Parts: sequence; structure tokens; C-alpha cells
Amino acid sequence: MKKQTAAIHTSFQSSDAYNALSMPVYHTAAYEFDNASEMSDAFCGRSDRPDYSRVMNPTVTFFENKVKSLTGAHEVVAMSSGMAAISNSLLALSSAGKNIVSSRHLFGNTYSLITGTLSRFGVEPRLCDLTDPAAVEKMVDSDTCCIFFEIITNPQMEVADIKALAAIARRHGIPLVADTTMIPFTQFGAADAGIDIEIVSSTKYLSGGATSIGGLVIDYGNFPEFSKRIRNEMLFNLGAYMTPHVAYMQTIGLETLDARYRIQSANALALARRLSSLDGIMHVNYLGLEDNPYHALAKAQFGDTSGAMITIDLADRDACFRFINNLRLIRRATNLFDNKSLAIHPASTIFGPFTDAQRQSMDIKETTIRLSVGLEDVDDLFDDIRQAL
Ligand SMILES: *Cc1c(COP(=O)(O)O)cnc(C)c1O
Repeated sequence: MKKQTAAIHTSFQSSDAYNALSMPVYHTAAYEFDNASEMSDAFCGRSDRPDYSRVMNPTVTFFENKVKSLTGAHEVVAMSSGMAAISNSLLALSSAGKNIVSSRHLFGNTYSLITGTLSRFGVEPRLCDLTDPAAVEKMVDSDTCCIFFEIITNPQMEVADIKALAAIARRHGIPLVADTTMIPFTQFGAADAGIDIEIVSSTKYLSGGATSIGGLVIDYGNFPEFSKRIRNEMLFNLGAYMTPHVAYMQTIGLETLDARYRIQSANALALARRLSSLDGIMHVNYLGLEDNPYHALAKAQFGDTSGAMITIDLADRDACFRFINNLRLIRRATNLFDNKSLAIHPASTIFGPFTDAQRQSMDIKETTIRLSVGLEDVDDLFDDIRQAL
């Protein structure tokens, strides 16, 4: 089956009483058993029947199975947010005295998680330039529990050589963990690239129209204890499983993911090309443009599409605020990959709580506007940007 077909056709775990064509939403906390031994089997993992919705729910399992068939993963666990997927994965992999090798170019909350929250529990952050394999190699030692990176950093749009990172991780027997939110798994095969554990904020491309918050831990089975620990320890003890209603909405989103992504990434490329010609825009940063320093590497790793996030640089912070205020069609909002196009000034919002020095070390510039390109007609988006300038 091709991916688009697999996204549509996944069978239920067990048949529905009414032959419902869409997966029913099982809004229940608990499940009843006919006898004590069946109950014991479920609680002790000897059967795959659900017992309590903090750790298993048929609607969520259906969503997880769809993702499994699309990615070929060994195990998929759906979480309550992208951050829950990241934090639970890093908690499963690390312990006091271990270190995480990563980058300063990270989603803001991931940066805070690694440098703040986890370091309070004795896990050392080791941030380096992940585009320099020699620098990464120098950071890794016998206490390194994983290398964590984002396939396209947000908003810098830096791209590391995944095969080089995978070779270092393999040499040291540690997992390569990637946040792949920027390119959907219908387009980018993480396992083939050498990634061991893939993490996705399903709030973004997957949810389809920004309906809900969710996250996915996609495990390719190279570290057998990992997904067991996520299911049997993290879900039980930390309780950040996806809810059935979110799984239902994101299942619907998943069915149209490939179709939406094709249009959104094509829109982004067309728009990025046209924006380069506009007065007032100092720089357009998009991996699909031939003059982008990461263009060739991105093409080799991700294929012909480059996602639907563009950044533009204007003269200064005031010009950015004026631009945001003047927009008529593009919405002033955070989030990425909604059906609607969105604009935000990252330095004063997502990265607003950080100090100037931190923003500088993370290469967050006062002059940058981040655009998430939606499903609108490109002419309308271009006209809105031109009038806002
Ligand atoms: C949004 C985002 C996250 C966090 O996901 P939530 O679902 O908002 O918790 C993590 N990584 C990247 C790259 C993101 O864009």
C-alpha cells in the first residue's frame, strides 16, 4: 500500500457493534471484565485488552496503529502534547549523572527542558554545533544517554547531516533521537535516515486545521527497553497519554496529511520565490530556495519538498511589529502548519522570556518574522504580505 492509502485504511483492533465506518470515540476511563483471571491478564500485560484509559484506550490505539502502518515503526505511543512526547522520551532515556548531547538551536521549551528542568535532576545538557560532526564526537562520552536534534531547526532552519549524527550514535551505542515535526513522516522516512527514536508534535501538520494538541513517540525498535519503559513506566507514572477525543480528531487529520502537505509545501516554495523580490525584505530563509546554504543537504535528506515554514528578515524590530500589525489575511498567531497561514515575531513571543544573551546564543534575531504557509491561494498571501510591508 502507498502511504496515502495506508493513511486511510487501517482496521479497528476489534469489530464495532454497529459496524461504524469511522473509529468510535471511547470516552471511558475504565473497562469491565467478565472474570478475575481476564482482569489479571489485562493488568499484567498478558493480554492487550485495555483496563484504564491513562495507559490504553481503543481510539488512541487506533490512531497509534495508523501511524505505525505509515512509518513501519516497532512501537508508537501517542501523548498529550509534543512536549509530553519529548519530556517522557528524555526521562525514559536519562538518569542522574548522564548527559544529553544536543544543540542551542532548539524549540524554546525543549531548550528549557534540557537546560533547566532535566539539569535540576542531575542530567547534564551538552549543547554543541550539530552541523559539525567533530564537535559532536568530542561531546559524547560513556555517560551520554542520547543525541537529540531537530531535523529542521525552528526558526533558524539549520539542517544537520543525519547520517553523520547516526554514525556517531551507532559507534557509541546510544540512540539518535529526532524531533521531526517540520516534515511529516509521509514524506520523510526517519528510520532510513538512521534515526532510532522519532518525536512529532502532532499539534502541527497532523491535527489538520489546528484542532488539538498532541505528540507522538515513534520507536524503531533498536533499543528494545525504550518503548517498554515509555508504556510501562512513563504512561503509568507520569500520566501524559493522549485523550480519545484528540486521537479521533488527529486520526481525521492524518487521513488528509499527505494531501495537505503537498499543497502547503508547494505554496511555501512559490511564496518564498516571490518574496525574494519584495522591497523591505532583507532576506528570505527557506530550504527550498537554491541559494539557501542547506538546500542541497535538505534535498538529499527530505526529497523535493521543504516544509511550509518560511522566515523573512525585515529592517528592525519596529518594522517587524508594523508588518505584523498590518496583516489582513495572514493570522497573528503561534502554531505551525494550520490550514490558515500564520505569522509571528519569535524574538518577542516564543523566545520573549529568554534573556538577550540567551536569544543571541540561540541565534534568535529581532529582525525575523516566521510565516507558516497554509492552504490559501498564493496570490492572496503574496498580496497581503506586500500591503503589510
Ligand atoms: C510545537 C513544537 C513542539 C512542541 O509541541 P506541542 O505539541 O506544542 O507541545 C516541539 N518541537 C517542535 C519543532 C515544535 O514545532
